[in-house]
Amino acid sequence: MPAKILDGKQLASQIEAELAEQVADFLENNGQQPKLAAVLVGDDPASGVYVKNKRLACERVGIDSELVRLPAETSEDELLSLIGRLNHDDEVNGILVQLPLPRQIREQKVLDAVHPLKDVDCFHPENVGLMVQGRPRYLPCTPHGCVQILHRYGIPVAGKHVVVVGRSEIVGKPVAAMFAQKDSPLGPEACNATVTLCHSRTHDLPAICRLADVLVAAIGKPRFITAEMVKPDAVVIDVGINRTEQGLCGDVDFAAVEPIASAITPVPRGVGPMTIAMLLVNTLAAARGQLA
Ligand code: NDP
Repeated sequence: MPAKILDGKQLASQIEAELAEQVADFLENNGQQPKLAAVLVGDDPASGVYVKNKRLACERVGIDSELVRLPAETSEDELLSLIGRLNHDDEVNGILVQLPLPRQIREQKVLDAVHPLKDVDCFHPENVGLMVQGRPRYLPCTPHGCVQILHRYGIPVAGKHVVVVGRSEIVGKPVAAMFAQKDSPLGPEACNATVTLCHSRTHDLPAICRLADVLVAAIGKPRFITAEMVKPDAVVIDVGINRTEQGLCGDVDFAAVEPIASAITPVPRGVGPMTIAMLLVNTLAAARGQLA
């Protein structure tokens, strides 16, 4: 039987509809519109598209957004002073620094400079620490998107073996931490998994992937996960976004894996839109958390 398609785009629309009501209530009760400041340094076309999509999503739910564009030759000090200004701007609730940054700027230094209350990407060490300790202020957007997809499709992970391929700070590590938690804002069935975290030094990756009840691919290599790496009836979450000559594709060979899996996220229309929806969730939470 073909896999159930886990439609992240449709779910994100549902979440946006829920958020639009919550944002309207927030505005009515507090006389203030939540606001996101997006910082884009340089002219990488893909980054430009991501920021544009995030701002359009803000607009759809009634969140105000401001785009600050800086030239590619911006220095680290100039960017840090902008972050300082946004940290002190009472109208700005969330700050998003679009990655990657130009080579002369140390990403870590910039991400560490964002005020933790305004860190709606959940990259600041204080927020990562709180999340890993199971008392999150914010949840990181892409990992939260993965967890929400499973939750909203009624797929529990408690007691299941989740294999994550990729250990980046943005996706692999935090998604593994979230699935392994003892509790989750989404309930105990959305966590409590047995988690294996794989990377480029993992021995016999295909054999480990074949043990997965839920396989999360966050590698950045087009169609890397092949049918031989997937257990029949596994659930497959494809985080990858790769630009190829044939267009966008994920880290999973969708055509080969879809007939084997019980459920799978497509690319596009999978994790990507959910990442943006979770950014909106965090921005509203940030506005609530910053009420005087
Ligand atoms: P990174 O490049 O930071 O990390 C890639 C990870 O994959 C690393 O941990 C690396 O291992 C591992 N890896 C690379 N090659 C292999 C291999 N042959 N076998 C096993 N593991 C391997 O990528 P990101 O986590 O930032 O992004 C991953 C993908 O997700 C990209 O396609 C990106 O575009 C996409 N993405 C999508 C988002 C969305 O909203 N849908 C958001 C963010 C990212 P090692 O650590 O050993 O080098």
